[in-house]
Amino acid sequence: MDIGNKINEIKQSIPASIKLVAVSKTKPNEDIMAAYNVGHKIFGENKVQDLVGKYEALPKDIEWHFIGHPQSNKVKFIAPFIHLIHGVDSLKLLKVINKEGQKNRRIINCLLQFHIAEESTKFGLLHDEATTILASEEFKSLKNIAITGVMGMATYTDNINQIKKEFGTLKIIFNSLKNEYFSDSKIFSEISMGMSDDYLIAIEEGSTLIRVGSKIFGARNFKL
Ligand SMILES: *Cc1c(COP(=O)(O)O)cnc(C)c1O
Repeated sequence: MDIGNKINEIKQSIPASIKLVAVSKTKPNEDIMAAYNVGHKIFGENKVQDLVGKYEALPKDIEWHFIGHPQSNKVKFIAPFIHLIHGVDSLKLLKVINKEGQKNRRIINCLLQFHIAEESTKFGLLHDEATTILASEEFKSLKNIAITGVMGMATYTDNINQIKKEFGTLKIIFNSLKNEYFSDSKIFSEISMGMSDDYLIAIEEGSTLIRVGSKIFGARNFKL
């Protein structure tokens, strides 16, 4: 089945309110255009250099998401156009993004990434670390970023109960931060969770935004 059909099939299998980020990392521009040509406009990349190249080459109405953890010294390259940065896990990085937002006279949307998986390799904040950031005066002074929600990755496992539990944890964190820090904010609304193998579980557990790559574009040549 081709890319256009795959993307339509996924969209038909999920509620219309769920946003789909088509993760095009490592894939060529033609593949992105195949999805674009069936009306898809939201794409995710996790390497700054690849993202900038694709942004420059492809239609300007594409909404680009950075789905990883950008290096501080590279934020400036995506700051002029990025729609949402999913993998923010420190005040230091928020400050860098804020500075680049200021230079570009825009507010850059960010998701706080949480560590919900058992694997120690998946980085992200713990709940306490996030509340320390959100409560700080330094954070409150950052006017060129907007925290629009949370992001997390479940453990890579066949154990559905474990995946459910981890996504459930992210939903609990979201609700708790919403109550404590964003109760009067409409923009704190996204829960970015769910990938090719687990997006249906993620949606059951409250995801608002899924990041799907290989199920749309086929397996990647190398693991990223
Ligand atoms: C690669 C990647 C995805 C997509 O993974 P698939 O399993 O190919 O759907 C989603 N989120 C992040 C953060 C990724 O790095």
